[in-house]
Amino acid sequence: MKHLTNTRDLSTEEIHAILARARELKSTHHDNTLSNKLIITIFFENSTRTRSSFEVAAKRLGASVVSLDVSKSSTSKGETLFDTAANLDAMEPDAIIVRHKDSGVPKILSNYVNCPILNAGDGAHAHPSQALLDLFTIWEHFQFDSLHGKKIAIVGDIKNSRVANSNIELLTRFGLEVILVSPPHFMPQSSGLRKTHDLDSVINEVDIIMSLRTQTERHTNQSYASLKDYAHDYCITDKRMGDRDILLLHPGPVNRNIDIDDAMLEDPRCKVLKQVKNGVYIRMSILEKLILQA
Ligand code: ASP
Repeated sequence: MKHLTNTRDLSTEEIHAILARARELKSTHHDNTLSNKLIITIFFENSTRTRSSFEVAAKRLGASVVSLDVSKSSTSKGETLFDTAANLDAMEPDAIIVRHKDSGVPKILSNYVNCPILNAGDGAHAHPSQALLDLFTIWEHFQFDSLHGKKIAIVGDIKNSRVANSNIELLTRFGLEVILVSPPHFMPQSSGLRKTHDLDSVINEVDIIMSLRTQTERHTNQSYASLKDYAHDYCITDKRMGDRDILLLHPGPVNRNIDIDDAMLEDPRCKVLKQVKNGVYIRMSILEKLILQA
């Protein structure tokens, strides 16, 4: 049984296959490869894109989807997470997609069920499908060529970001050089990667910028003087970008004029909506792989 709790669950060969299949699905659109399958989504934490993206992906492949409303589920009545998982599992779904505010929950749940568990984001730990769609978007941008030696600056609240964690693992594995750019309080302690607090000092050398949202829900105390000060140093503005040929990514939701300014969100170099579009194809590809090879 294969689960996707973090990007390390997949070998590099498997990732190549997932990317190639996503590329194929993007050109053919529909394929009913999961037509007799049932997928359950259970999101214990809010989601703007990921849940709908997984659900659209499942439906595009012909699967049926049941989405548990967590506020009405028995987990809110005190049933343990594991009992909830065991009960869902008893209904014999073909996959369960889970998001939780606590790191490690999808991994633990994978021990209690008989179908693949897909992590749709757990605490500050991992968000594997997001990293895969980011890798796909970068690969597509560079005409499906090797990404070896490309430089990416990951900018913002890196320490609290599961998106950053998963991307660092995946992008370095594909030969990209990752530079971490953040104020000291958002910088992870160790990583072995190049780090700087000064975005403008690296902007001339990078091919890609991945801007991140400040994860205020994961801060125990306010760690910056004001968002305005943060934006002054780290917001991706059209002035800061100038006419540089840099691919700009953000996993969403974007804090406008704090992470990226209005002008850059309209700029063709900004591929936020392309990421959302690609997310569906990557998740189709992941679902196929995990369900059909379970
Ligand atoms: N949507 C991403 C996540 O769920 C990024 C974010 O929320 O900032 O982690």
